[in-house]
Amino acid sequence: MSPYRAKKRLGQNFLVDNQVAARIVKAIEPQPGDHVVEIGPGKGALTEHLINADCLVTAIEFDRDLIPLLTAKFADDKNIIIIAKDFLKITPDELPERMKIIGNLPFNISTAVMEKLFEFRQAIQSAVFTVQAEVAKRLTADPKSRDYGSLTVIMAAGFDIETLFDIGAKGFRPMPAVSSSVVKLVPADRIPADFESFTSFIRGCFRQKRKTLCNSMQLGLNIPKYNCEDLIKRAGCNDGVRPEQLSFDDYTRLYDLWRDIQR
Ligand code: SAM
Repeated sequence: MSPYRAKKRLGQNFLVDNQVAARIVKAIEPQPGDHVVEIGPGKGALTEHLINADCLVTAIEFDRDLIPLLTAKFADDKNIIIIAKDFLKITPDELPERMKIIGNLPFNISTAVMEKLFEFRQAIQSAVFTVQAEVAKRLTADPKSRDYGSLTVIMAAGFDIETLFDIGAKGFRPMPAVSSSVVKLVPADRIPADFESFTSFIRGCFRQKRKTLCNSMQLGLNIPKYNCEDLIKRAGCNDGVRPEQLSFDDYTRLYDLWRDIQR
């Protein structure tokens, strides 16, 4: 038995079901020579399958206490680089020019990881992540549903996302309090001009999700009521519409109109 004690603050729930590990890795469709970046390899449950599939692996693990364990486990493998670093601080020059990404993500940073992907989206072939079931629902929600929100719209700008399968808490040690889902992301070209401004715009629109879009925009984007009403009308939406009722296309139209009045 390993004497290693899992650290809650780093979202450490280690996958102990080898069949599930194989299924997650299969979802990335690993080919010999593929460069795969793994976020949070932990004790190497997924890493092992990637190495067996003859992939080149860059494994980024924040917990320095796990590095000796990983180094020892893969001592005979030349196809792995282990980087001891916070993935959220990784810069594009530390990553391959073309890559697949995989990770059973630490739950506390899963949405931050999603948004970080936009920094090197061009280099991504596909990504497979285990996230909380609740986050998977937000990532794949349809307009007018309860889970539809700013994360859904922002991520839709860069990726097609689907939920592949669920994993019960029993697959992990320690067992997490919530169940997990495996999602696959494939880059899609829908990025609006000035993406940073688009993300703040979308967050502003969803600032008060339960109110009307007009009220939410007034507060979230600090624009007068008559401007909101006019923009919403010109985007082809009804007044009184709520933030969760607009599709991604509605939001890009509204964003373009909003940008015009900023100039
Ligand atoms: N992949 C392993 C598995 O499936 O058993 C571990 C999964 S565990 C849910 C999440 C892993 O991410 C842990 O090893 C944790 O130390 C690591 N981690 C947490 N925060 C991180 C960060 N900011 N950057 C990189 N790794 C991180």
